[in-house]
Amino acid sequence: MKAIQEIFPLLTKPHKVVITTHQKPDADAMGSSLALKHFLVQLGHTVTVISPTNWAGWVNWMPGVKEVMDYEMDKPKAEKVMDDAEWLFCLDFNIFHRTKTMTEKLKQLTCTKVLIDHHQEPDAASFDYGISDTAKSSTSEMIYDFIVDSGNSDKITDEVSECIYAGIVGDTGAFRFQSAHAGVHKLVSELKEKGLKHESIHDKLFDNFLENRLRFIGHVLLNRMEVFYEYNTVLIAIPKSDLLKFHIKTGDTEGLVNFPQTIQGIKLVALVIDRDEERKWSFRSKGDFDCNLFARKYFEGGGHFNAAGGRSSDSLEKTVQHFIIAMKENVEQLQ
Ligand code: 5GP
Ligand code: MN
Repeated sequence: MKAIQEIFPLLTKPHKVVITTHQKPDADAMGSSLALKHFLVQLGHTVTVISPTNWAGWVNWMPGVKEVMDYEMDKPKAEKVMDDAEWLFCLDFNIFHRTKTMTEKLKQLTCTKVLIDHHQEPDAASFDYGISDTAKSSTSEMIYDFIVDSGNSDKITDEVSECIYAGIVGDTGAFRFQSAHAGVHKLVSELKEKGLKHESIHDKLFDNFLENRLRFIGHVLLNRMEVFYEYNTVLIAIPKSDLLKFHIKTGDTEGLVNFPQTIQGIKLVALVIDRDEERKWSFRSKGDFDCNLFARKYFEGGGHFNAAGGRSSDSLEKTVQHFIIAMKENVEQLQ
């Protein structure tokens, strides 16, 4: 993989570009993809964002989201656009299998592939150009760098700015995680000077749900949460029946994993949701417990040091048992 800077001189000639990201894109995945699109379009490129799956309603306000293609919804159309592409940008993931059903198609593509991502252990061999930097708060921050470093600061329009800000807010827990380094605050200050209205973005991301989602959270915290004080760990396991009863859609469970962290002394929070195709795990830790390692070792997953995810094909009951064994094995790191 050549350094990302080596693609800068090639940006001036228009290309057919596809931008893609991980399945069920979150604010950083969608925000970075759309910010890059709005930037590249100004340089004369023809750009399509293709999401491997559907996405949460709380990113639907982002400028340009209506033109994003959902691969699962219309594979032939999306594959045609991919086959025509000269450049493929892969944002906010670093190994093709994080796109689920799109994996095989991405492997087949022979166009120039570019990686921009901040997760651990990139599959660098699959990309022609790229940057992988785990010190970055978000892929959206990296898109800002991409635009500025390529000498195009003047192309940070309101659209670009809103998408970048949303991604940073999403991935830094609204500036509270360690990943919100000084450079992030400087970047936001630049966006503010360009006129960013940050308060409306917080409203659109966090105060934009329906009543059922809040009722669901109340139910889950009351009935589905288990605290293991001797392991400083909280486990939440959500059966499919709860999702159906409260009409829970993609994105409604985002942020749920953060609530147990408000309990004094809790080091690890684990949330598992019984989805149709798999049991999906989310892990959050405070301090020196390595969620990325834990997710990789026990749940076919990965991510960051303090925030990671994983999966299991077992039943909810079985995967919960597996978690409890794993938690006990990690007693020293959890105390
Ligand atoms: P979340 O719990 O919000 O779904 O994910 C937390 C972090 O872990 C995100 O950065 C996400 O990209 C990453 N992540 C989530 N699930 C997986 C997974 O199955 N594999 C890997 N490698 N990373 C994941
Ligand atoms: Mn991210």
